[in-house]
Amino acid sequence: MSKLILVPTPIGNLEDITLRAIRILKEVDLILAEDTRKASVLLKHYNISKKVLSYHSYNEHNNVSGIVNKIIEGLNIALITDAGTPGISDPGFLLVRECIKSSISVECLPGPTAFIPALVVSGIPCNSFVFIGFLPVKKGLSSLLKSLSSEIRTMIFYESPRRISKTLDVFCEYFGENRKASVSRELTKIYEQTYRGSLKELSILFKNTTFKGEMVIVVEGKTAGS
Ligand code: SAM
Repeated sequence: MSKLILVPTPIGNLEDITLRAIRILKEVDLILAEDTRKASVLLKHYNISKKVLSYHSYNEHNNVSGIVNKIIEGLNIALITDAGTPGISDPGFLLVRECIKSSISVECLPGPTAFIPALVVSGIPCNSFVFIGFLPVKKGLSSLLKSLSSEIRTMIFYESPRRISKTLDVFCEYFGENRKASVSRELTKIYEQTYRGSLKELSILFKNTTFKGEMVIVVEGKTAGS
């Protein structure tokens, strides 16, 4: 029976792809990609020549039913995004939900995602955590942070280098300056780095130095003393 397969792709280091992911991308009838140009670099690297169609957040709503029909007609379709696991702060959820509604089988291969390595190297408890992803830019930001201020699980956020300093400042305000946190940047790449300290220490560091690259922030949950 035909199916939808979500295939995680490297978040920086091209070696981070599973043998199964490569086989599946070679076997499917069609690959949906968030950015067809970026996908072609990856596919070329692994000698995969396959039809690739664009599937990004702007056309997701319009394209979902057409894709569901293609799978019902018998095509096996893989979805990849620019980096990491589809559906994790990336397109994918709508398609998964529609496939499930149409009783189409859905698989997601295990593979790269940025928040797991960031959490594990943070040194902050990783037995229980909540993944927040990107914060809303304006509307809803303060109510979300207010509700998270009493969260006891470790919290994980995605952030851009442009906004990191401002975000650490608002974290100090809502979570307290002494909360432990980490910022991991350029994970899996040559200049991968993780900075650890209190929110105040990290806020000072990121105010005084400009860091490039994609970032994951991990913040300790509320403890008895915080
Ligand atoms: N689907 C991806 C995943 O599974 O992690 C996330 C895609 S989201 C559009 C991109 C964000 O993920 C970046 O802004 C950053 O917060 C995080 N990210 C992706 N790659 C990263 C890397 N190599 N190092 C640090 N953070 C990364």
